[in-house]
Amino acid sequence: MLFLRTAEDNFMARPFQLPPLPYADNALAPVISAQTIATHYGKHHKTYVETLNKLVAGTEFEGQALEAVIRGTASKTDQTSLFNNAAQTWNHTFYWKCMKAGGGGKPPRAFAERIDGAFGGFDKFRAEWINTAIEQFGSGWAWLVADGDSLAIARTGNAAVPFTMGLTPLLTIDVWEHAYYLDYQNRRTDYVRAVIDKLINWDFAASNFEHAAADHNFVPVMSA
Ligand code: FE
Repeated sequence: MLFLRTAEDNFMARPFQLPPLPYADNALAPVISAQTIATHYGKHHKTYVETLNKLVAGTEFEGQALEAVIRGTASKTDQTSLFNNAAQTWNHTFYWKCMKAGGGGKPPRAFAERIDGAFGGFDKFRAEWINTAIEQFGSGWAWLVADGDSLAIARTGNAAVPFTMGLTPLLTIDVWEHAYYLDYQNRRTDYVRAVIDKLINWDFAASNFEHAAADHNFVPVMSA
């Protein structure tokens, strides 16, 4: 007798995927070169996704959404590797969406007014974000977050994400050396300034803030 295998027989939790970049690999040049994208997206980000899939297999977290895996492992000292790779997968997918060709400049009017109210003007906001990115010692991320109804700048070390701390991510800048070393060597400040001034996708930030204002538990979904 011939037994035909069905889709159910072959069921496995769908592994996480490396999402496509939202633009061509040379779209962010010269601020971020295609060479940096090839390494940062094509090697670092890809490896986080592949390692995540290996680590999550067979655990209680298999089959959960990426955001749920991150929340579920954030405070578990025996799940540090799974947390790090899940969070880095999320952070990088989010980071790519925070930039676009021809970005930077000023935010849309309504969001710009919220920034003015929170920081005392766009220039003060920009300076605080740059300083926070510079002051992050070692690897990490510099964020614009929603804290309830208000806006704040935050930094996290290594893979840590704001949404496990009650803050909603609106924008981020990767300040791991792999994000800028090929293009800027050790000049993190030049990289951060250029990203803010020339690449930030303000429409993405404003959209995230609209969702966060309507629901303080909102987390941008980066599962793929
Ligand atoms: Fe990175």
